[in-house]
Amino acid sequence: MSDRTLTFFGAAGRVTGSCTLVEWAGRRVLVDCGMVQGESDAEELNRRPPQVEPGALDALVLTHGHLDHAGRAPLLAPLGFAGPILGHAATLEIAELVWRDAVRLSGQKSDEPLYTEEEIGRARALMRPLGYGERIEIGDLAITLCDAGHILGSSHVLFEHQGRRLLFSGDVGVMNTPIIRDPTLAWDAPADAVVIESTYGDRRHRGREETLEEFATIVEEAVRRRGMVLIPAFAIGRTQEMLFQLRALMESGRIPEIPVLLDSPMGERATDIYRRHGECYDPETREMIRDGRLPLTFPALRRIASADQSRAIRDQRPPAIVVAGAGMCTGGRILHHLRNFLGRDSTTVVFVGFQGQGTLGRRLIDGEKKITIHGEPVEVHARIATLNGFSAHADQPALLEWARRIPGPPGKWLVNHGEPLAAEGLRQALQQAGLPGAAVVEEGKAYGF
Ligand SMILES: [Zn+2]
Repeated sequence: MSDRTLTFFGAAGRVTGSCTLVEWAGRRVLVDCGMVQGESDAEELNRRPPQVEPGALDALVLTHGHLDHAGRAPLLAPLGFAGPILGHAATLEIAELVWRDAVRLSGQKSDEPLYTEEEIGRARALMRPLGYGERIEIGDLAITLCDAGHILGSSHVLFEHQGRRLLFSGDVGVMNTPIIRDPTLAWDAPADAVVIESTYGDRRHRGREETLEEFATIVEEAVRRRGMVLIPAFAIGRTQEMLFQLRALMESGRIPEIPVLLDSPMGERATDIYRRHGECYDPETREMIRDGRLPLTFPALRRIASADQSRAIRDQRPPAIVVAGAGMCTGGRILHHLRNFLGRDSTTVVFVGFQGQGTLGRRLIDGEKKITIHGEPVEVHARIATLNGFSAHADQPALLEWARRIPGPPGKWLVNHGEPLAAEGLRQALQQAGLPGAAVVEEGKAYGF
């Protein structure tokens, strides 16, 4: 085995639980430490201590703040990890929000929380925020973050040592995502090996314009039928994009100004983090703000704060749009709304993000007609719509374009973060695109690079 190895402890054969160990130049750096979500063994996998020796780690780098990339980080310090936790400044703020939410959620389910507020405080004390392009050295190993265009603060992570370069894609975003900048496509030096995500490695999204048109038509139809539009949305990223798009559609008169109920305290807090990090905005958003317009604020928007207000949405007169978490319907306030409105054929549920295997979201998309929410049977009469064009993940053509732009060409591609068919689809596509040397990674296996 070479003295440069990568070992995948998660997001191998699945999308969630990202956790990869880089051993290079005598250093041990973990890239992401995320939770497994959705699957039946998720709880058990998350409770198992990370298979790395935390006391022997020199650093943890977070590619972004989503739960499946950052959610288990607070487990490390109590096991001997002394830091630092590196990430873009916005990523670290989002990660802390996500950790506190995880503790709150387990409190609600009266589960033993995975970690405590005190352990979150310990992780927080180890944080070392970085900006894009800022280079930090861990011993002789240099680490630089570059815009990944997925959510606020999301990063590709570049490792360098003695002229060799290893690049982690992290989650690769979609070009022209509102508010944030695009994924990085210009590199000043070649890479030798690349770890590339494959969430949609075998699929092609509809274009954003077409998706927006489809979305507008769904809303119009709901207005005509006097129905509710329920949008399960991840609190971080999707929620802000949906607010941005709803504002734009209403401002331009494309859809009528019906009430938009943001029923997501966490989405609200994440939106505040978005508002604070103007340094991450794309040129269009900067221009908008210069013109005195706010990208995430509009007259029809109503923020639902208390649980009582949330319950009262049951009596809301349709048509109205409800944006609520959790994005995959694995918990959160969206469950009340699904229970109340799935039985009406005037309701439309619009899925705007990835739905992991085994989640309620996936089961609805797969057409299940009888489900159980909070122990109550619910019959599904609502219309279920999926708009993958709002995805925060690059599709196959975009992943290939991202890969093609990396000079080298890298002789080694390690495909992770995808269900088996998606990962294999991307591996084959890389090969066909003249980028040989791709392998789909296996959990627990070490790869030289
Ligand atoms: Zn993500």
